[in-house]
Amino acid sequence: MKAYTIHVTGIVQGIGFRPFVSKLAHELGIVGTVRNDTSGVEIHIQGVDADCQLFVERLQSELPIHGRIDTLQMEPTELQTLDDFTIILSHGVKGHAFIGADMAPCEACLQDIQDPENRRFHYGFTNCTNCGPRYTIIESTPYDRDKTSMKVFPMCENCQKEYDDLNGRRYHAEPNACEHCGPMFTLKGADGTVLTTGLDAIEQAKEHIQNGSIVALKGVGGYHLVCDALQENAVQSLRQRKGRPRKPLAVMAGSLEIAKQYVHISEKEEELLLSPARPIVLLQKITERTIAPSVAPGMATLGILLPYAPYHYSLIPSEALWVMTSANRSGDPVLYDDVQAAEELQGIAEYILTHNREIISPVDDSVVQVVQNEPILIRRSRGYVPLSILVVPLEKSPTMLAMGADMKASFGMNRGSHAILSPYMGDMEHQRVQDLLWITTKRYEDLFQLQPTQVIVDAHPNYYTSQCGRIYAEKHQLPVIEVQHHHAHVAAVLAEHNIQDPVLGICFDGTGYGTDGTLWGGEFLYCHKEYMERMAHLSYAPLPGGEIAVREPWRQALWYVNQLYPAGAPTVLEQWKESLPKGWQLLEKMMPHMQMIQSSSGGRLFDTVASLLGLGYEHLYDAHLAIELEQLALSEKGSILDMKMDETVLDTMSLVRSVIEQLECGESVAKISANFHRTLIYYIGQMAKQCCEKRQISHIVLCGGVFQNRILLGGVMQELQGYKVHVPTQSPMNDGAIALGQLWLGSYINR
Ligand code: ZN
Ligand code: ZN
Ligand code: FE
Repeated sequence: MKAYTIHVTGIVQGIGFRPFVSKLAHELGIVGTVRNDTSGVEIHIQGVDADCQLFVERLQSELPIHGRIDTLQMEPTELQTLDDFTIILSHGVKGHAFIGADMAPCEACLQDIQDPENRRFHYGFTNCTNCGPRYTIIESTPYDRDKTSMKVFPMCENCQKEYDDLNGRRYHAEPNACEHCGPMFTLKGADGTVLTTGLDAIEQAKEHIQNGSIVALKGVGGYHLVCDALQENAVQSLRQRKGRPRKPLAVMAGSLEIAKQYVHISEKEEELLLSPARPIVLLQKITERTIAPSVAPGMATLGILLPYAPYHYSLIPSEALWVMTSANRSGDPVLYDDVQAAEELQGIAEYILTHNREIISPVDDSVVQVVQNEPILIRRSRGYVPLSILVVPLEKSPTMLAMGADMKASFGMNRGSHAILSPYMGDMEHQRVQDLLWITTKRYEDLFQLQPTQVIVDAHPNYYTSQCGRIYAEKHQLPVIEVQHHHAHVAAVLAEHNIQDPVLGICFDGTGYGTDGTLWGGEFLYCHKEYMERMAHLSYAPLPGGEIAVREPWRQALWYVNQLYPAGAPTVLEQWKESLPKGWQLLEKMMPHMQMIQSSSGGRLFDTVASLLGLGYEHLYDAHLAIELEQLALSEKGSILDMKMDETVLDTMSLVRSVIEQLECGESVAKISANFHRTLIYYIGQMAKQCCEKRQISHIVLCGGVFQNRILLGGVMQELQGYKVHVPTQSPMNDGAIALGQLWLGSYINR
């Protein structure tokens, strides 16, 4: 007989881990105990040594579906007098490190709600230890029902029995409920009058949507606006009322089968669509089948998600495609407070389908796309947060607060080697997003019982997040560490994959503050642990007028044109100039005398080319012009145009000249876009190979928001075959990853 104490960390709480451990022990005839503790789960086992070893093996190989073991420590210990295996409750244990993410209903729960004989038939809040809400309903820890928004729903006798049944899958399922004791739906009119409740509310809402109405629907993490994606009128009025002229809208498909009639779905994409996180997956449209044109104008792809809450299954018919977009005004964070929602949805939604389970922490829908079989996160939120990311070098590090960046804002904290990122919050130029940052930071401190001892901020002097970090540090008397933006982008990928070797980090993004005071964003960086050196970059071009030139890319495009043709532009460009918004002549006259900030941004290069091709003059949503430029090229094959490069600079001027020459020849914009992509891919590859050779590097990291462009990312990955190419898959490709990179760098700076 031997006895061991086993300590497990990872995703081991809120997923039915303890019942699983208990069953396994009983099967093997092992006695002992299991309990949650502050950082994971502690198991005491005793039995025949071979059985104990088998127990540990099977613990790892038969883990419940949504579980993840990050570390497992096993130490021999004293034999105790025990005659059974028991689950010990975690009363009084403060600060569970790991709170699960919200999960779509599992197969067993889906069967329950679709079975007319089952007492949960059509009950929209059905869940078990394998599925259901988590992060969005937890007020504080440890994770027990009385610390969630389910505390106002005392369980009925039947539910309590399930909750107490050690062998059932609802054993200690904190949100367990049924129609007799749990939350319930209400359908309200636009003015707030209650029209009906329960299943009838869902039935009527369904009819209204089918009849072309716009219905606000309270989801798991916030309110959505819903309308039929096949009815152009409905979609158009949704856009009008929401003030969202162009940004593609996500679509919920009633079933995988109906989705397959409208978009191409690979095996990997299907896996993501069906994963418990149920993210929005960006998928290539099937050209012959069309939904309402206003759903995704200018796009060859469509964002699709499948039902992610039990009640969606009662609401959306399996053959339906419904627009499902966040109900907040553009720029605001996700709308989740019932009172605020009732106010703001007036004039937008004709009906509100709401429920009385309070959302404690809001989350947006997550967004992901597959490139070269890698899942690339564009937004990390529902279903992914607050799951931790294992960052090995953080093991002995104190808790740090990493503030991230201002766009796609997301901060991070660590408990030892576990990095816990916040959900996507939005862009900091909006007051309400700023407020959300403060609220969520406080919430993370409380939920995870973390007290940061250091603050890490982006080196940008004007970032709101950096200023917040400094205020926080001052209040708590903590040191502040500054990190360069693109260095953090690369470091986030090093963190995810625990890469200790030197890498070439290729980071293309909008703009970030460079070490020389210019705005970087087309960078080839030598990175090793906390060391960074700029090896090469895109050539500099100014931003005439600063911020306004970012919003209105025609301004930089005009600068290129005037540089290339000082003595007068070719006819196509003269025509292009005439079509520009008012004020271009004045800008043209003033430009030679203006003080302009220089930028090597890859994002700006895409914008400039899109603008020259006449796709638009200003962004109607974030990265709008660059995105539509990419979409044009999705079905074209490009060829390599002329572009100059030397040891350290990829010359954008020569590439823009090549694009203009194509315009002069009368080439189609789709073809020019494809050629532009192909050229840039080829030369990024050439520059990367040159850099790698110079420093004997075999690892390459691709990161930054511009690599959300699937043609660029896929193309560069192929161009660099033979190297070990790494991309972010657990953190977003865009600035949502900055906090993770900051944490990695913080861990080294602390040594
Ligand atoms: Zn379930
Ligand atoms: Zn009940
Ligand atoms: Fe960035």
